[in-house]
Amino acid sequence: ELLESLGRQIGMALENIRLFEETRVLSLHDPLTGLANRRHLEIAYSNLQARTSRSQQPFGLILLDIDHFKRFNDTYGHPEGDQLLIRVAEQLRQCLRSTDLAVRFGGEEFMLLVADSQTEQLFALADRIRNLLQQDLAITASFGLACYQADETLSQMTERADEALYRAKHAGRNRVMLAQEEVIG
Ligand code: GH3
Ligand code: MG
Ligand code: MG
Repeated sequence: ELLESLGRQIGMALENIRLFEETRVLSLHDPLTGLANRRHLEIAYSNLQARTSRSQQPFGLILLDIDHFKRFNDTYGHPEGDQLLIRVAEQLRQCLRSTDLAVRFGGEEFMLLVADSQTEQLFALADRIRNLLQQDLAITASFGLACYQADETLSQMTERADEALYRAKHAGRNRVMLAQEEVIG
């Protein structure tokens, strides 16, 4: 009897660990695409920031927004739109390294946190993704990117990338723009 009771208690403890882990994973990811959510982004940003202040390793942020996605939904329906978002997420995951993070930032807006990269590498990555989306999924997207500047907060960096994205949209979409301060040397 004692053994049975102990067994049940161990079983319940293990189940609690499993549930705890499941809750933790759910609380950090977007349910549709499985990409990281904003909460996960904030944690990853702090980690990268701390790493950069120790080792001076640069990192960057890419913000991308699917072009005319409303039109896609209107043409093919919302469920097809959801499937497309899942496929975009897969492409993004495949383009990143294990030290990077892909985030579903909003409805059809994604953010990539890219470790150990300067403007050149960020631009090359964004442009490769832009080409892949166009070739494999027949959609276009607009991109804005920013490199980390000392002591910058996530929202300041996001704002710079968002401003670049805004310029990409207004310049005709399907392109990559750099935050004002960035140059490719
Ligand atoms: P732009 O090129 O200026 O970005 O145009 P847009 O149509 O992509 O931008 P807009 O912000 O007008 O529309 C975004 C659309 O994304 C509208 C909304 O219905 C759709 N959307 C947002 N989240 C989801 C989602 O989870 N699933 C689907 N299917 N559609 C979504
Ligand atoms: Mg949008
Ligand atoms: Mg859009």
